[in-house]
Amino acid sequence: MAQECEAINLSQGFPDFESDPVLIDLVHKYMRQGKNQYAPMPGLPELRQRISGKVESLYGQKIDWQDEITITSGATQALFNTFNAFVKRGDEVIILDPAYDSYAPAVHLAGGKVRPVAITGPDFRTPWDKIAETINEKTALIVLTNPHNPLGKILTDDDIGLMRKLLEQYNGYFVVDEVYEHLVYDDRPHLSILRYPELYARSVLTYSFGKTFHNTGWKIGYSIAPPQLTKEIRKVHQFNVFSVNTPIQYALAEYMEDEKRYLGLSDFFEEKRDYLSDALSGTALKPLACEGSYFMLVDYSEVSDKDDRSFAEWLTREYGVATIPLSPFYSNPPGDKVVRLCFAKELDTLGRAVERLKVL
Ligand code: PMP
Repeated sequence: MAQECEAINLSQGFPDFESDPVLIDLVHKYMRQGKNQYAPMPGLPELRQRISGKVESLYGQKIDWQDEITITSGATQALFNTFNAFVKRGDEVIILDPAYDSYAPAVHLAGGKVRPVAITGPDFRTPWDKIAETINEKTALIVLTNPHNPLGKILTDDDIGLMRKLLEQYNGYFVVDEVYEHLVYDDRPHLSILRYPELYARSVLTYSFGKTFHNTGWKIGYSIAPPQLTKEIRKVHQFNVFSVNTPIQYALAEYMEDEKRYLGLSDFFEEKRDYLSDALSGTALKPLACEGSYFMLVDYSEVSDKDDRSFAEWLTREYGVATIPLSPFYSNPPGDKVVRLCFAKELDTLGRAVERLKVL
């Protein structure tokens, strides 16, 4: 619709600026060097070693690059591997509501049943008490997203304490999607599960280079999980894709030598978040707090009483700004008058979009 209506597209989560030319040149270099055949099934050793070095320096956890890291075709495939490895027919998977949209279909394909647990406003914190009530002997996995898409919330120390407490009653595993690990704002740390050995022992974690290095179309990501869980994940991975893009793995391994390339991302995106939220304060749309990710929710209740889907369509058609309604992220949409904007855009793009929104 955005293309049809020539609207400024703040809907899907991808940048409108280029990936670093240095990284693009590295991919080219390795293609020219003939690194064009299958990579090893779990991923290129150089890249897995680089990731384990990063994990140790950022989160203080020593992980074994050979037995705990698997390079995948994007986080989506890492998640697909995980659900297919750990969900048997009839198992239940607790997924927060709203959640990123690829979780539930992968659980269904594996024969599992989704048990949605609502995250409710106005604070949108993780509902640990409701999760505890929903756990039963069929619960195989609990899925968390930190930072959260679409809500833009992050896990806090309190959340980590409550998650630990859950281990007293829960014998299954956690899937924690950390694709936005480098997009946490206001000088707060990213509380990766990798910081907490007793939680990591029961978790599969998911990451995406597309989100980190502004090239979502390259579809490369990875999972990190303890060795006995990684073994199961690779049984699916081997016959799903076998291995992923070789020259890009070489390029990423070299590019990540310089840690500024990912540590600078919070400041880079925080400027965009602040710009958008300040600019929106001159409109009738009310931005909600964004603690992490590159998504900002806006409340449009002062503008319209349309449902979110009709509102998003109307805004695209009549005002030339494409946003995403929240209801598709829900199993049970609460009917909030809220849409999601992606601020991984040039400041000029954000500025032009706000100019169009001012007249609402
Ligand atoms: N998890 C979350 C929370 C996401 O927002 C996305 C991308 N929108 C993904 C996973 C998928 O990442 P990838 O493109 O690497 O498959």
